[in-house]
Amino acid sequence: MSTAPTGRFAPTPSGRLHLGNIACALLAYLSVRSEGGRFLLRIEDLDVPRCPRALSMQIIDDLRFLGFDWDEPPLFQSERTAVYEAALARLEAMDAVYPCFCTRAQLHAAAAPNAGDTQFVYDGACARLTPAERLERAKTRRPAIRLRVPDEALSFEDGLCGPFCENLARDCGDFVIRRSDGLFGYQLAVVLDDAASGVTQVVRGRDILSSTPRQIYLQRLLGLPTPQYLHIPLMQDAQGRRLAKRDRDLDLSALARSMTPQQILGMLAFSLGLIPENRPASLPELVAGFSWSLVRREDVRLALPAQAAATQSE
Ligand code: GLU
Repeated sequence: MSTAPTGRFAPTPSGRLHLGNIACALLAYLSVRSEGGRFLLRIEDLDVPRCPRALSMQIIDDLRFLGFDWDEPPLFQSERTAVYEAALARLEAMDAVYPCFCTRAQLHAAAAPNAGDTQFVYDGACARLTPAERLERAKTRRPAIRLRVPDEALSFEDGLCGPFCENLARDCGDFVIRRSDGLFGYQLAVVLDDAASGVTQVVRGRDILSSTPRQIYLQRLLGLPTPQYLHIPLMQDAQGRRLAKRDRDLDLSALARSMTPQQILGMLAFSLGLIPENRPASLPELVAGFSWSLVRREDVRLALPAQAAATQSE
């Protein structure tokens, strides 16, 4: 049996690719290709109204422009609702989920802030409804579906960040796997899709590190394997601010006006620590020299060309 890894890049097409996304695609790609492994592309367009197909196609074109290739046709999450429905039915049969009728206002009023103060832990109000109360509420409101989580530590070893541990009940609370508008949530979809595609290695931004215990818990419930996780440093602009979709001047449409694909890849590779100087580089060359030991562990300040950095600070 081959031990070469299968990796993937899984962008959400709610905007053009920016340098943070491209850094993620680059490391995911180099990691598996340098070991002779497979690379897949998944378009995470679950939120169909916010992710028009034209943007997905643009992302695919952008990746091709940069020289990326993948081993299977791209998977579109918007086409996989039946798979998510089937998994939800299994979770329902296990009594692992319950309908939640709380409105946004109720959630804010009842929730206790967790350690970070930015995320709220659901207090489980709807888990305590009787069957009769559920029927009554369902007359006026379509519920979200929440997964019950255990009050115990769940830990895993991240390939870059080291050990990470969370108590789902205390740090996160029962979480939504299907929204009240019927759309499936990211946590369930990502777990099912990684397993269905045979993904063994997940490389993604450190902003998703804290989602991982929820995903591992879902994998255990559904009897799915847990891939290896590597959460990469966040990219910062020339001023040390985290890149965001609002930085239009750092998205590919703007960059491609003044830089070649090799210049973009070389600048990213240099910023990440993969090559010693900021010069054009091709994907095959970067594959040949790749090692995770080179990759910076701290947030990465991009070595932007003077022009892009100047537009940024305006
Ligand atoms: N779709 C997510 C994003 O664009 C990435 C999800 C993942 O890699 O698991 O941030």
